[in-house]
Parts: sequence; C-alpha cells; structure tokens
Amino acid sequence: MKRIDERVNERRTVAQKTISSVNPATGETLAEIPISSPQEVRRTVARARAAFGPWAARSFRERGGIVLRARQYIIDHLDEIVSVIYRETGKPKTEALAADVMPVLDLMTYYARMTEKWLRPERIHLGKYALMGRSSYVAYKPLGVIGIISPWNFPFTIPMGEIVMALMAGNTVVLKPSEYTPLTGLAIGEIFTRAGLPEGALNVVPGDGTTGAALCEAGVNKILFTGSVATGRQVMMAAARHLTPVVLELGGKDPMIVCRDADIDVAASAAVWGAFSNAGQICASVERCYVDEAIAEEFIARVVEKTRQLSQGTPERLDTDIGALTNERQLRIVEEQVREAVARGATVLCGGRRHRQLNGLYFQPTVLIGVDHTFSIMREETFGPVLPIMTFKTEEEAIRLANDTPYGLTASVWTRDIRRGKKLAAQLEAGTVMINECAYTHALPQTPWGGVKQSGIGRTHSRWGLNELVTIEHIHVNRWTGVKDFWWFGYSQQLYHLLVEIAGKLTSPSWLDKLKALPALLRGRRLKKY
Ligand code: NDP
Repeated sequence: MKRIDERVNERRTVAQKTISSVNPATGETLAEIPISSPQEVRRTVARARAAFGPWAARSFRERGGIVLRARQYIIDHLDEIVSVIYRETGKPKTEALAADVMPVLDLMTYYARMTEKWLRPERIHLGKYALMGRSSYVAYKPLGVIGIISPWNFPFTIPMGEIVMALMAGNTVVLKPSEYTPLTGLAIGEIFTRAGLPEGALNVVPGDGTTGAALCEAGVNKILFTGSVATGRQVMMAAARHLTPVVLELGGKDPMIVCRDADIDVAASAAVWGAFSNAGQICASVERCYVDEAIAEEFIARVVEKTRQLSQGTPERLDTDIGALTNERQLRIVEEQVREAVARGATVLCGGRRHRQLNGLYFQPTVLIGVDHTFSIMREETFGPVLPIMTFKTEEEAIRLANDTPYGLTASVWTRDIRRGKKLAAQLEAGTVMINECAYTHALPQTPWGGVKQSGIGRTHSRWGLNELVTIEHIHVNRWTGVKDFWWFGYSQQLYHLLVEIAGKLTSPSWLDKLKALPALLRGRRLKKY
C-alpha cells in the first residue's frame, strides 16, 4: 500500500492553498496538504455534531471495542506509523515508538476498560434530607463536539490521548493538528476509520493557525488546546466570546533540584535524558537544573561526560540519541538564547551551536553554567537541547529559585530521602512534582496532567481529565409523593416560629440536635399549604 504522504499528494488539487510537511532532518518535502478553510471547519463541526447523538447512544463496551480495534491497527502498522512521526518531526525512530506510540497503546487499553467505571452515576449522600425521603445522584453526560488543537512536539501521543478519552466519554471530535505535523494528524484519522469508527465521530482538519482559530469560532462544546502560552491566550479569548470552556496545556520551565544526598550518577543521567530527549522539545523537559553546591562539581562533570557520549544523527538510525529539531523557528530561538547567555558571561561546557556535519535542523546538546535568573535561558521556554545549571546553598534557596517563574508544569526533586523529597515537593508550584523521576508522567494514563500558573488550566489524562470531557447532571428524587414541603407557600406566623425553633438544631453537625428538630418538623406537616 502507498504511504500516507503519497496518497495525500495524489488527492491534492492544484488550486488549493497548502501547508508543507517537511522532514526537518533532510529538508525533503513529504507532502503538500490542503489547508481547511473556516467554511470547511464549520461544515466539519456540523458533521461531528450530527454524529454525536448516535455515538453517545452507544454503550461503553461498543465504544471500547472500537478503541481496542484502533489499538490493534496501530500494532499491525507500527513501523508505518512510527515512520510518519519520525519523518515529520526529526525525532529518533526509537523515541517515536517509545514516547509517542507506546504510551498511546497503554492509554487505549486503560480507557477502554476504565471509562465505564468512572462515569457510572454516583450517589450523593444527603444526610438529614435522606430522612425526608430524598435522594440524589449525578449522571455523567458527554459534552458534544470536542475541538482538539495540538502541537508538533508529540504529534501522536498528545492528540491521541485526548481523542480516545473524548470518544470513550461519548463525545465526537474535530482535531486540528499542528501545521508542522499534518500527516501524523491525518494518520490518526485513518487509524480510527480503519477501526470502524462511525463517520463524523472523529474528523481531522489540517491547516495552519487560521484553521485553529476557525475551530475556536465554530461552536464546539469544549476546546482542548495544547501549545504555547501566547496562542493559549488567543484561544481563551476566542472561547470567551462563545462561552466555550477550555482546557489549556501550555508551556513549562521545569526545574530539577538535585539534593546533596542524591545518587549523583543516576541524577546526572536523568538530567541528560530529561533535558535532551526529543531534542529538548518537551513541555516537561528539564529546563533548569539546581544542584546543591556540595556535590555540584562531580554532578556537572558527569552531566558533561554523559552529554559527550550522546550520538546525534539521522532519526532512522536506531543508535541515534538526539535527532533534529522540528522547525527552524524554534532552532533560531534556541540559538538566540544561547548566544545571549554566552554574551553575558555563561560558560558552554559542551555543545553550544548548530551541528556542523549534519545538514538538517540539528542543534548540539548543550550544557551551560554561569547563568542566573536574569538570563532568558533561565526564564523563557527553551524548546531545544540546552541544560543550564545553577548551584544552591540551602533547600530554601532551591525552592525559591525553582518557583521563580511564571510557569508551573512539572518539577523534579532528586534525593535518597523520600520524606525530604515530599517536603520539598509540597513547596513547589507545579501541576506534577516527581521525586527521583523526570519528564515522563504524561505517559501514565492513570495520572493527571496539567499545569498551574501560566502552564495551563484544567487537566488531561486520569479520571480528573475524563471529568473535563463530561458534564454532570444532578438527579434529585423525592419519594414522599403525597407531602407538600413545609417551606412552600402558605407562609404564616406559625411557620416562622417553627423555623426559628429548628434553625439551629436542623443545621447542627450533631445528629442528636437534628433529631431534636423532628417534633417541630412533624408539626410542620400540619401547617396549611397552598
Ligand atoms: P503553538 O501555540 O504555536 O501552536 C499550538 C497549536 O495551536 C498548533 O496546532 C497551531 O497551529 C495552533 N494555533 C496557532 N494559532 C492559533 C490560533 N490563533 N487559534 C487556535 N489555534 C492556533 O505551539 P507549538 O505547536 O509551537 O507547540 C509548542 C508549545 O506547546 C510549547 O510552548 C510547549 O511547551 C507546549 N506544549 C505543552 C504541552 C503540555 O502538555 N502542557 C505539551 C506539549 C507542548 P499551527 O501549528 O498550524 O500554527
């Protein structure tokens, strides 16, 4: 069968405005993809809305069956799917499999199984009102059409996780993939079509920023946006016009704190992997490292030694540790941040520039010292393989430095003393704090993902992420069908005195006091009501 880029190129008509899918490791144009116009986006949302009712009516079992068939399709076409991802992003083939595809396989199994349990109607305990024949429960209902706008750094795992959860909850979806990774977005659509998902339940609208903006205006029921703070702000402003709720998964400047009792070798390996995997293009990558000055010399030496051992090269080579960056724009930002740091006195211990021998968008893995919080490399997001390291004298100082940022996505603490780790974690301002781990918990479908401060609003993944994809309907039942409530009309002096009598007792935390209100309540049943 032909590859997805070949099929897309064949379907294109000359007149359409297009975006190019380019392999950043080689500069080769893989495909020209037509941009979805605002009219097409609106039509697509209408199609998704038409598909919503029948899809929501299906049982969890049926929906889970389709998700598991899609999972099997991915397994059966693993190499083809991995190839689309690595050719569009420039990441090593191994990372495309390990970090983009495998977490999705896990997540699909998990939500196909768990969604029904979490979205079962839930009883609410009413306390004293239960004695009056009342009961309440909440039913979880899908929202409708979910608009998903996703970035290019994990073009498979980020939208797939959200799509699977949205579909399992009974919603239909319109996905706008990044303009840098449209083929991966189209491949996602194809996977579900092949798995037998009904037409209209998942729709992919490739395009550029205008397509994303059009989706925000097209009347979807919720927007799940992953991307930069600047675009997130625009999305929220557009959403506010329609009162569309949003989940925003935005940038990070994630700190790593290495305590003096940490295993130095393990922490150094973690810093190198956490900072340089996916060529540093991870919202949760180790962006800033703070090491206790008592172990700083040895730690930094090991970080540099390990960084020098990394092999940077073409993504399809299976021994490549670091591939290319995905786009020139990010590469220029990285270059500028490193240039500014060096100009202001930072020391480059290794790397520091574009790779000379490789032709694509390659930046060498770079370790910097001699930086402080006035440098942009310590304040602004760096989507590239750069690790700036500072030292600290006390844990209070480490916490102060780690929290000195407008971001709050993830943070990590490295120590052999788990109690110390938890104590520090409690003081860190982040959506996720890892103790002796870094960067990877997005791959755990069980745990919530999301940020505080400017790193975002809301959560994806886990049951809390699932809650973002449903609305709750409260059902309240009164089994005393023949009795008028004493608070209904027919107000009188007697009613007022009765209310005075029970006000304190009925609302007391003590059950004994509540019982003392009972005689008055029974008297209240005799009051005249209209
Ligand atoms: P952008 O904010 O540039 O783009 C994100 C998505 O929004 C893309 O699909 C983009 O389309 C689209 N878009 C652009 N303009 C608009 C608009 N006006 N309205 C609606 N959508 C629009 O981010 P990047 O793609 O460059 O991704 C990198 C950023 O994503 C980093 O800041 C990173 O930290 C963050 N990120 C956060 C994660 C998290 O979980 N918190 C995970 C991964 C990344 P197009 O590409 O076609 O312009």
